[in-house]
Amino acid sequence: MPFELIRNDITKMKVDAIVNAANRSLLGGGGVDGAIHRAAGPELLEECRTLGGCETGDAKITKGYRLPARYVIHTVGPVWHGGGHGEKELLASCYRRSLELADKAGCESVAFPMISAGAYGYPKDQALSVAMETITGFLMDHEMMVYLVIFGHDALLTGKKLFRDIREYIDDVYAEKHLISRRENAREQLWRQDEKAALEMDIQLGAAIHGNPVCAAPKQSIPASEAPPDAMIAPDWDKILKQTDKGFSETLLDLIDERGMTDAECYKKANIDRKLFSKIRSNPAYQPSKPTVLAFAVALELSLAETKGLLSKAGFALTRSNPLDIILEYCITNRFYNIFEINTVLFQYDMPLLGSGMG
Ligand code: ADP
Repeated sequence: MPFELIRNDITKMKVDAIVNAANRSLLGGGGVDGAIHRAAGPELLEECRTLGGCETGDAKITKGYRLPARYVIHTVGPVWHGGGHGEKELLASCYRRSLELADKAGCESVAFPMISAGAYGYPKDQALSVAMETITGFLMDHEMMVYLVIFGHDALLTGKKLFRDIREYIDDVYAEKHLISRRENAREQLWRQDEKAALEMDIQLGAAIHGNPVCAAPKQSIPASEAPPDAMIAPDWDKILKQTDKGFSETLLDLIDERGMTDAECYKKANIDRKLFSKIRSNPAYQPSKPTVLAFAVALELSLAETKGLLSKAGFALTRSNPLDIILEYCITNRFYNIFEINTVLFQYDMPLLGSGMG
C-alpha cells in the first residue's frame, strides 16, 4: 500500500499506530514525545515505566490509551553529530524496527513524525530522504498505509537539487509566458497608434519566430510544444494509445503488458493503493483523477507525448497553466521517474500528490 506525506498533528491521526520520537528512557520529553504523552494520558507513562528504556535505533510498542490510534510505537532516533557517527543507519533502523513492530501487531496504517529532525538536530531534508527510502523499501513487500506527518510549515526541500531545478524551471516558464504576453500587449497598442511601426514590428517578430526564438528558452527546458526526441512515441505504444475503442483502464493494462511489468510492480511504483488498482482493472469505464493518471505515467516511465496520450484517454490534458503540470513536464522530459521524490516537491508546493488513495 502507499506512502503519503501529510501536514498534521500526529496525535490527531486516526491510524492503527502512531510512532513517537522518544528518548532512551521512554519516560516522556519535549517535542512530539510531550504532545503524545499529553494526548494519551498518564496511563501511557505508566506502561512506559515497565519497558526498561530503549536503545537508539530500536523501538518498543504500547497501547494508545486516549489517542485515536490503537498503539504507540516508541523509537529512539540518533542525535545528529555531523553525519559521520552512523546517524543514517541508526535513523533507518528506527523506521524499519517500528514498521516491523507495526506489522507484527497487525497494523494496516501507521503514522511517523520526522524522527530526529527536531531537538536531535538531523537536517530536515536528509531526515526526509532516509524516512522515505526506508519506508518505501519496506512497502515493496508489505501491504500497509504509511504516513509521514510533517508538523507546521517547515521548508523541507530547499537544499535539494531537484527542488531548486524545478523552481528555476517554473520561474522560467512563467517568465516566458509573461514576456510573450507583454510583447502581445505592446503589439496591440502599436496597431492602434501607429500602423506602419506595428507592421514593421510584426515582420521582425515573424523573422524572430522563424529564425531565433522570440524569447530565451528556459535553461533546463524542452518546450512541450516543440517535440524533442524524448517526446516521440514508440510505434507499439502509439498503436496502444490510438485505439479509439479502448478507455483509460484497458489502455493502462495494455501499456503495463507492453512494458513487461507485473500489475503489482506497476501499482507500487505508481504509489497506488492495491484496492484502487483492482477497481481500475475491473471497470473498463473507470474515470480516474488526473494525479492518478500521472502516477501511472511516471510508473510506466512514459515520454511526454505518451503521457499526453494517456491523459487524453481520461479526458485530461497537460498544459502550462498550473504548477502541477509544469513540474510533471519537467520531471518527465528529464526522465526523472521517482514518484516519492516528485511527491515531496509537490508537497512543498501544497499541490495534490500523485498516487496514494486518490481515485
Ligand atoms: P527528536 O528529538 O527526535 O528530534 P522532536 O520531537 O524534537 O524529536 O522532533 C521530531 C519531529 O517531530 C520534528 O520535525 C518536529 O517538528 C515534529 N513534531 C513536533 N510535534 C509534533 C506533532 N504534534 N505532530 C507531528 N510532528 C511533530
